[in-house]
Amino acid sequence: MKQLLTEKPRVLKMMDAAEQGIASPTEVLVKIKAAGICGSDVHIYNGTSPVATYPRVMGHEIVGVIAETGKDVTKVKTGDHVIVEQILSCGECYPCKIGRPNICCNLKVRGVHTDGGYREYITADQSAMHILPKTLSFTDAVMIEPMSIAFQACSRAGVKKEDTVFVLGAGALGKSIIRALLLSGATIIVADVEDKRLEEAASLGVKHLINSKKEDLAARLQELTKWGPSVSIDAAGFAGSLPLLTDVTCNAGRIITMAFLSEPSQVQQLKITAKELDIRGSRLQNNKFEEVIAAYNAGNISLEGAVSHVVPFSDALKAFEMIDSGDPNIKKIVFSF
Ligand code: MN
Repeated sequence: MKQLLTEKPRVLKMMDAAEQGIASPTEVLVKIKAAGICGSDVHIYNGTSPVATYPRVMGHEIVGVIAETGKDVTKVKTGDHVIVEQILSCGECYPCKIGRPNICCNLKVRGVHTDGGYREYITADQSAMHILPKTLSFTDAVMIEPMSIAFQACSRAGVKKEDTVFVLGAGALGKSIIRALLLSGATIIVADVEDKRLEEAASLGVKHLINSKKEDLAARLQELTKWGPSVSIDAAGFAGSLPLLTDVTCNAGRIITMAFLSEPSQVQQLKITAKELDIRGSRLQNNKFEEVIAAYNAGNISLEGAVSHVVPFSDALKAFEMIDSGDPNIKKIVFSF
C-alpha cells in the first residue's frame, strides 16, 4: 500500500509500505476513504509541533470502510463506514482512572505519536471505531473530528443557553466551535481581524460580530454584554489572547484555551483571583465522536460546506505545496482515496 511519510520536518515521501494485518482478535482493518489535513498536521509537517515524533505518517482525521474484522469483533462489520478515534490511552494513570483518557499521562495520538491516516489502510482496535450513516459523504465525515474538538471545548466550558459566549478567532477552529455553540442556544459573539472570516461566521448564523482590528473590542463587548461574556473561548491562541480574555470575561466566567502555544502569556493573577475566573484547557475530545454523529443524525448540525479542497491521495505532495502557498481560499483540504 501507499503511505505518505514525513521523514523529518518539511521532508515528505510518498512510498510503498507493508500491507497492514490484523494483530489481535478485537482488531479491524479499515480501508481509508478520506483523511483531513488539520492545522496540527501542518505544524508536524513544518516541525513546529511540540509533541510529534518523526518519522511519522500523519493524519488523525480518518474515515473509511471496514475491510476485515478480527474473530472477536462485535462493534462493527465488514462494509460499515467508520471514523477512527485518534486517542490511545493507558487506562492506568489518574486522568484515565477519572474518565479523561484524552489527557492520559501516556497519551498517544494517531498521526502524531503513532502512525495515522495518510495511507491506504489502517488497523485499530474495534473500540476506536465509530459507525457513520451511509448517507454522509466520506469527505464531509472527516469534519466529525474537528467538530468533536469543538464539542469538547463547549463541554469544558459548561456552556448553557443562558451564557454569552465570546469566540476569539473565526478560522477553521473558531467556525467548528460556532457550529457546536449553535446547538446550545447561547448568545454568541465572534471577533476576528479578517472581514471575510466574520462574513463566514455570519453565514453560520452569528449575529454579533466584531472586527478587532477596526473596532475597540473591549468597548464593543461591554456594549453587547454589559458585564462581559460569561464564557470566552480562545480559538486564536497568540501570546496576547489569554491576558485579553482575562480582561474582557465577566466575573465568575470561564475561559477555554486550545492552542499549543509555548510562548509565555503575561496574565495578571489579580484578574483571575478578583473575578474568580476559571481558566480551563481543552485538548482533543473525550467521548465526543458519538455525540457529534448523534447530533448530525438528528439534523442538528451540518458538516457540509467546511471542506474547501478535495485532493486525490496520489497528489498528496501537491496538497502540501498548496498549503505552502498560503492561499487564503484554502480552508480545509481532504485527501480522497
Ligand atoms: Mn484535527
